[in-house]
Parts: sequence; C-alpha cells; structure tokens
Amino acid sequence: MLEIRDLHVRYGGIQAVQGVSLSIARGSIVTLIGANGAGKSSIIRSIAGLNKTISGEIFFTRHDGEEPVSLRGLKPEDMVRKGISLSPEGRRILPHLSVEENLYLGAYSRKDKDEIAADLEWVYSLFPRLKERSWQKGGTLSGGEQQMLAVGRALMSRPDLLMLDEPSLGLAPLLVREIFEIIKRINAEGKTVLLVEQNAFAALSVAHYAYILEVGRVVLEGPGRELLENPKVKEAYLGG
Ligand code: ATP
Repeated sequence: MLEIRDLHVRYGGIQAVQGVSLSIARGSIVTLIGANGAGKSSIIRSIAGLNKTISGEIFFTRHDGEEPVSLRGLKPEDMVRKGISLSPEGRRILPHLSVEENLYLGAYSRKDKDEIAADLEWVYSLFPRLKERSWQKGGTLSGGEQQMLAVGRALMSRPDLLMLDEPSLGLAPLLVREIFEIIKRINAEGKTVLLVEQNAFAALSVAHYAYILEVGRVVLEGPGRELLENPKVKEAYLGG
C-alpha cells in the first residue's frame, strides 16, 4: 500500500533520516521503533506532506490494482483526500472546541453527511468515553482522553492508512493497554496502521511488521513477534 525508497530528511545541517526504505502492506499494523531523535516522526511527517526538505520516493496505492502514485510534493490536505491521516504527537486538539466539534473537524474535507454521522458513531463506539464527554471542551479533557480524541479525529477523515505518532505517550499503564486494544480493533475493522512508538514492547506485540531505527537509519526489521524475541532488541529496547 505504501512504499518508501531511500528517504532522506534534512533540517538545516541535520540529516534526520538517512536513506530509509520501507513498505507497508495493506491491512497490516507496521511500527517504527527507536530512541528519541532516531527519525521516526520525521518519516511519518514526510508521508503526511509536512516535511518539505525530503529526497527519495514515497508511493501510495490506495486500492488494490491501482497504479502507485507518488506523494512527493503533495500538501497535507491532499494526503487526507487520498486516504492518509495522521494523529500527531502531542495531541494537538483544539482546546476551545467541544469533543464533537473536534471530531467533526477531522471530517472537514468530506461531504458525505450520512457517512460522516455513521463514522462519528463508530468513533464513539471505539471510545465510549468521548461519547460521554461529547459536549466538553477539548482542553479540559484528561491527557488520555485528549489522546483518544486525537485518534478519533484522525479516523473521522475515513483514512485507509492511519498514522499514529506516539499514541501511548504519557498514559497510565491501564490506558496504554486500552489504546493498543483499540488500535488492534481499528486494524481488524479494515484500516492499515503505521504506528510510531517509544513503548517498544506494546508496539511490537501488536505489529505485523516492525522497523528499528537508529540515528536516521533502519538497523533491523522483521515481524513484530520475532523482534520481541531478538536478543539485541531485548537489550536495547525492552529493558534486557
Ligand atoms: P522522538 O521519539 O523523540 O519523537 P523521533 O525518532 O520521532 O524522536 P524526529 O522527531 O524525527 O525523531 O527527529 C529526528 C532528528 O531531527 C532529531 O535530532 C531532531 O532534533 C531533528 N529535528 C526534528 N524536527 C526538526 C526541525 N523542525 N528542525 C530541526 N531539527 C529537527
């Protein structure tokens, strides 16, 4: 569904991503793991059209049988129309709007009113807490609730590829488990998921395939379950 070839991302003199190639199979959960600054966010921000100074190629095939299209040079709003949505790190919800208004914002590029309403109900079924608090201002939600809202809002564009940047950041252990269960459900209901995570254990446990990044390069890749058993991964990312 998505293929990246030889991606480089520069910020001034800093080479944040140095020749990364990876692919995401339709229907899978793929995760990018790595220490702070390894380049994970830079990669998904490049896919979302948020990084300008990139080289390399990013090809996307929305439906089976279609010709791959290059995403290079497209704007973030084009990505949403193409079926790619990002739930950014740090939540970035609108604090003065209600939960429901924030969710509707995720559907801003759509005109299919009935389907938007159906998707809102779907998001509420994934996150009953958001339904209970639909009237509440986004800024007054707890950290975990804001995280759920960010994921819900990304789903409201009805993406085929959902990208999640650190969805478990700052959450208590019980909520971490809950958010990963929800990610599995979203995937089981047909979405392809690209997940960037610091929580390597949880991410590798749900991912069909994983890439381990160190200073802008892929150093290891394989099925999530296999990497969980890999001694190097255990030592460097899973606390021995
Ligand atoms: P984290 O887990 O801490 O979010 P990451 O793996 O997502 O890290 P990136 O956010 O992609 O890493 O950052 C990769 C490198 O690029 C880091 O050294 C970071 O400081 C640098 N960087 C990221 N964004 C910018 C920017 N807008 N301007 C300058 N440098 C940047």
